Amino acid sequence: MTAAIIDGKVVGAKVRAAVAVDVAAWVAAGNRQPGLATVLVGDDPASAVYVGSKRTACVEAGIADLHQHLPGDSSHETVAALIRQLAADPAVSGILLQLPVPKQMNGGGLTALIPAEKDVDGLTPVSAGLLALGMPGLRPCTPSGVIELLDHHGVQIEGAEAVVVGRSDLVGKPVAQMLLQRSATVTIAHSRTRDLEGVCSRADILVAAVGVPRLLGGAHVKAGAVVIDVGINRTDTGLVGDVDFEAVSALASLITPVPGGVGPVTIAMLLRNTLTAAELQAK
Ligand code: NAD
Repeated sequence: MTAAIIDGKVVGAKVRAAVAVDVAAWVAAGNRQPGLATVLVGDDPASAVYVGSKRTACVEAGIADLHQHLPGDSSHETVAALIRQLAADPAVSGILLQLPVPKQMNGGGLTALIPAEKDVDGLTPVSAGLLALGMPGLRPCTPSGVIELLDHHGVQIEGAEAVVVGRSDLVGKPVAQMLLQRSATVTIAHSRTRDLEGVCSRADILVAAVGVPRLLGGAHVKAGAVVIDVGINRTDTGLVGDVDFEAVSALASLITPVPGGVGPVTIAMLLRNTLTAAELQAK
């Protein structure tokens, strides 16, 4: 079997266009324009690029760009005061604190100050709790993007054996919860898993969120499996995922490339979350 390629750019563009239509309808119905406050502390070049892409995508979807930039030597309390101010501002639908923050502040503590209804990254303890309990709330963007890709391709999630490699709060745990909510039989594998090949090769849906270049090869993949590679690893030969694309695409039925798979859908889900946040606050 040679896998069909999941084109994240196509799916991301579809979601972005749909959000733009929904934002226009929301505003035309007399509601306030949704606004996203990205918060960047310091001048880390990679973070600046990520925030820049998010801001551009926002504006294209008709969402107000309410970006905030603080100097890298700001105190924890200064950033906390800004987040509290944004939390109280009705023009701000969503707040996104770009991580990592400089080392003199506590990123987790700052993230926790974002109210759940403005938590467009879905990373606060309250949002994680709502997800764990299957209650309505804002879900993390990358895991939502994984589900969006599966749905776009009509992949049957209910009843499927899903294996998630990685147990981070950002990707592994929430994507596992979302697959469970869709009634997959979910296994979470991680750095202490014995027999990773054996566990992974049971999967109908294999999600890799590890951060180790080409960790998963042909021996980890059952013929016909759907493989979603969340990993983004910078190597001497360029960006690669956690999956050995050459070997695995000969076995899988569907596979995401890196780059061009999960990444483009992640930002699209942020836009969707920002509109959802505006709707939650209007209730
Ligand atoms: P993380 O470092 O927080 O977590 C990695 C997880 O992988 C850990 O739970 C660890 O137990 C597991 N792990 C490490 N080595 C392992 C091994 N040898 N075998 C099995 N499991 C192992 O990373 P993260 O934040 O979850 O990100 C994972 C990857 O996804 C990274 O490459 C990151 O750059 C990428 N990422 C991509 C997007 C996107 O939009 N595409 C978004 C977030 C993260």
